[in-house]
Amino acid sequence: MKTNYIFVTGGVVSSLGKGIISASIGKLLQARGYKVTIQKFDPYINIDPGTLNPYEHGECYVTEDGFETDLDLGHYERFTGIRTTRNNSITTGRIYKTVIDRERHGDYLGKTIQVVPHITDEIKRRMLGEGSFDFVITEVGGTIGDIESAPFMEAIRQLRWELGPQAVCVHLTYVPYLKAADELKTKPTQHSVKELQGMGIQPDILVLRTERHLDDALRMKVASFCNVDLECVVQSEDMPSIYEVPVSMQKQGLDAAIMRKIGIPVGETPAMKPWHDFLDKQRNAKREVHIGLVGKYDLQDAYKSIRESLNLACIYNDVKARLHFVNSEEITYQNVSDKLDGMAGVVICPGFGQRGIEGKIIAAEYLRTNDIPTFGICLGMQMMVIEFARNVLGYEDANSREMDAQTPHNVIDIMEEQKSITQLGGTMRLGAYECELREGSKAYEAYGHEAMVRERHRHRYEFNNSYKEEYEAKGMKCVGINPAANLVEIVEMPEKRWYIGTQFHPEYSSTVLHPHPLFLNFIKVCVE
Ligand code: GLN
Repeated sequence: MKTNYIFVTGGVVSSLGKGIISASIGKLLQARGYKVTIQKFDPYINIDPGTLNPYEHGECYVTEDGFETDLDLGHYERFTGIRTTRNNSITTGRIYKTVIDRERHGDYLGKTIQVVPHITDEIKRRMLGEGSFDFVITEVGGTIGDIESAPFMEAIRQLRWELGPQAVCVHLTYVPYLKAADELKTKPTQHSVKELQGMGIQPDILVLRTERHLDDALRMKVASFCNVDLECVVQSEDMPSIYEVPVSMQKQGLDAAIMRKIGIPVGETPAMKPWHDFLDKQRNAKREVHIGLVGKYDLQDAYKSIRESLNLACIYNDVKARLHFVNSEEITYQNVSDKLDGMAGVVICPGFGQRGIEGKIIAAEYLRTNDIPTFGICLGMQMMVIEFARNVLGYEDANSREMDAQTPHNVIDIMEEQKSITQLGGTMRLGAYECELREGSKAYEAYGHEAMVRERHRHRYEFNNSYKEEYEAKGMKCVGINPAANLVEIVEMPEKRWYIGTQFHPEYSSTVLHPHPLFLNFIKVCVE
C-alpha cells in the first residue's frame, strides 16, 4: 500500500483537542492493522519546546531518542503505544534553521531564499516523512487564520494537489451553544471553512467540537454550507474521559470516512477489545483515591503525563483518581499537614530552578515521617534526597548545586558532562538510558523482577555518589543505577510503605494498554 496522508487542522478557537482527535484517528487506523505514525507541526520559532516555560504550552514531553517535544506526542503514545521520535515534532524554528543552514552552506547556488518555495518545500519534505507507513497523520498546531501557520497551510495545499486522493484534510471546529438564544451556532464553522478554502484547501472531513449533542439537521446544514458529505461531518461531544473519544469517532465512522475518501475498502469494524476492556474498567471504578501533586505550576497541562499516568494506574487498580494540585510555594511547616490532609499518596513533581523547592522539601519530610506513599520524580526525587540529607544525615545546609552553587553539602551535583555546556536547548541528559535494579528492592518488585529497564530522562543534575554510603547506611537505598555512568536512578526507603524517587520520568512511557509498573504499584499501595 502507498503511504496515505491525513492532515488535521483546527479553526475558530484553540484547545479543541486536535491532539486527541489525531491520536484517536491513529488508534482507529492502527486497530485496522495499518502502520501509522502521527506528527505535530508547531508554528512557533523555538527550535523545540525544551526551553519553553510550561505556562506557555504545558509540559515538555521527551521521546525515547531524547528529543524535547510538544505534549501532544504524549497523547499519540498513550493512545497508540507507538514510540515517537524527533521526527514526530517539528517547529517553524526547525524548518527555518534547516533552510538557513543550507543557505549558509551554499546549497542554493545563489538563489533568493523565500517562504515559497524554500520554506514550504522543507515543510513538505518533513510532512512526507521518512520510513514506510500506511498512514502519516500530521497535526498542525495553532488556529486557521494565524499568520504564522500560513506556510504550513500552503504546504498542505500543494501536497493535496500532488497526492490527490492519498491526502485527506480533517478540520476541527467549534459549535458554540448560546444560552440566551438556546441555540447551537454553526456560523463560526462556516467562517473557518471559508478561511481554509480561501487558502485553497477544501476540508474532506469536519469534526465539530460541541458541549451539546448536534442533531442531523444541524450536521446537514454544516455539510451543505461547507461542501462536505454528511457522513463526513462528525461531532466530538464532551466526554467523561478523553479515552472514550476513539470509540465515539469509530461509532460515527470517522475512520471509515477517511478510508472511503482515499479509496481503500473499509471492511469490518475492528472490535478493539482491549480498549473496551479498559473503558469498562474506567466506567466501573467508583471508589475514589485522593492523590496530591506537589509542584509549582498551577496549570493542569504542566504535569500532563504524570496526571494521565496516575489516572491510568488508578483505573487498573479499579479506583478513580482524584488529583489535587498542591502549590509547593505555599507549603510551610505550619500548614503542610493541612495541605496534604486526606491524601492517600503524593507525587513530588519535576521542575527547574529555585521557586517552590523549600515547600517540596517540607512536604518530603512530612510524607517520610508520616509514612505516606510518596513518589518523587526527577526534581521531586532530588528534593527527597536533600530532605534526607538535612534531617537524617544531619547536613542542615545540604542542597543541589542547581539551587546553591556554593553549598558545602552538594548531595545533588551537576553532572560531569554538563559542566562545559553553555547552550540551552537539547543539552540536558535526555532520552532513554538503562537502569539496573537491585534484586529484592521495592522498585524491583514493582517492575515484576526485571533486572534492567530503560527509562527516559531530562535533567542536568544527579545524585552525588560520594554520599552514597551514608544514605545506604541510614536507610535510603540507591536501588536503581545506570551501569554506563554509575548514576543513581532510583532511591527508596525499604521500611516505608512506598517512598521512592526516580531520576528518570516514568510518566512519559505509560500508555493506556501498558500503564507504567511504578505508577501501578504506587497506586496499589495508596489504595491498600
Ligand atoms: N532541575 C533538575 C535537573 O536539571 C530536575 C529536572 C527535572 O525535574 N526534569 O536535574
